[in-house]
Amino acid sequence: MNVVDSEVVVAILQQNDYCITDQMDEADLILVNTCSIRDNAEQRIRSRLKEFKRIKQQNAQVSVGVIGCMAERLKEKLLEDETIVDLVVGPDAYRELPALLSEVESGQKGINTLLSLEETYGDIRPVRMDRNHVTSFVSIMRGCDNFCAYCVVPETRGRERSRDPETIIGEATGLFEKGYREVTLLGQNVNSYQWEKGSRVLTFEELLEQVARIDPLLRVRFATSHPKDMSDNLLKVMARFSNLCRAIHLPVQSGSSAVLERMKRRYTREHYLERISAIRKYLPGASISTDVITGFCGETEEEHQQTLSLMEWVGYDFSYMFKYNERPGTLAQRKYRDDVPEKIKSRRLSEIIELQMRLSLESKERDLGQTCEVLVEGISKKSEDHLFGRTSQNKVVVFPKGLLKPGDYVDVTINRCTSATLIGNPAQPADPEQ
Ligand code: SAH
Ligand code: SF4
Repeated sequence: MNVVDSEVVVAILQQNDYCITDQMDEADLILVNTCSIRDNAEQRIRSRLKEFKRIKQQNAQVSVGVIGCMAERLKEKLLEDETIVDLVVGPDAYRELPALLSEVESGQKGINTLLSLEETYGDIRPVRMDRNHVTSFVSIMRGCDNFCAYCVVPETRGRERSRDPETIIGEATGLFEKGYREVTLLGQNVNSYQWEKGSRVLTFEELLEQVARIDPLLRVRFATSHPKDMSDNLLKVMARFSNLCRAIHLPVQSGSSAVLERMKRRYTREHYLERISAIRKYLPGASISTDVITGFCGETEEEHQQTLSLMEWVGYDFSYMFKYNERPGTLAQRKYRDDVPEKIKSRRLSEIIELQMRLSLESKERDLGQTCEVLVEGISKKSEDHLFGRTSQNKVVVFPKGLLKPGDYVDVTINRCTSATLIGNPAQPADPEQ
């Protein structure tokens, strides 16, 4: 999400005669876009700010701004704590950046952390900063109304609001015309996307169908689905379009209904497992990935075991796994004690990671000998003579370059794998003589 936000910020600044540089020492303005989801994300920003301090000592003309969630969470306090910061701008105030920068130029500090009920930056075409020009993110909504007990997002990004579908379709079509071949539609809870026009309400399923129809050669992904809202109807729409990628990210957070209740996730283990069965029924062969938080307030050993057994049952293809980190202002911080000792959190996280490594390897091994359609994204990190791309299931595949280039589709026969990567060769076309 922050990638798209940075691209929106670049678009706003370019309209105001700023231009982007990748040489830090050439810059007159350094903006750092921030995340507050866990404390270590904020600590990394604090160390970056120390680096910028050195740059500012060499060139006093440079202005430094902190934008995004950390700006929203800390507001004026950030200006007090970090004296090198000239500008603090929250995620809904980017249109004010040019005006705030004039204030900074006249020697004042600039700050705007007002949240909005409407802002979606729908009319702004983000300036793409990706390297491959094949895959891109498209924001379809902002904010979140779910208030999971551990999460700062509703506070830092404000209320949920959906973006005008015409601007979404326009942006995705524009990307396709420029040669992009994959878009990922982004929102904190995409299933609750809705756009009212007169008496009609456009749902996420309908939006997805419209994006899928742009062109069969445009792959479409989306994130994140919320287990409480993911409907059979969505899965049925996906089944109808082969360019809607067979990969579902469905964060579970915990395998215990009691923990889910404390987390205020508003579904049970049983409901979650039933949703997984629905995915298997409507989209056989789809990959399933998740987010897991371990060591949430009051988590017992048995509740931890339930997370492991759920992961095993689902057989996730991929997971993002985190230790619970108490965040200021959240319900969990106000209501519960962060009482799982750090050592136990670490041990539980290692068990979860170890299990996922095995599941990831098994997931890749299932593809051995298979031929998969791959969208080529770029040169492999390890070898100039190899390319990498992804399958519809979002698995990374490495294969010899031949005459292929980024943006091409190619069928690759998989002959080796690690827990992270599939390795193969472009399939030989069928012999017409046979
Ligand atoms: N909206 C998405 C994800 C948002 S944040 C969803 O509901 O799934 C991405 C992930 O960060 C979450 O899924 C969760 O696993 C993790 N996360 C959020 N707050 C956290 C916290 N306080 N401590 C540890 N992990 C957290
Ligand atoms: Fe945070 Fe929950 Fe909203 Fe996701 S759904 S952003 S975890 S509050």
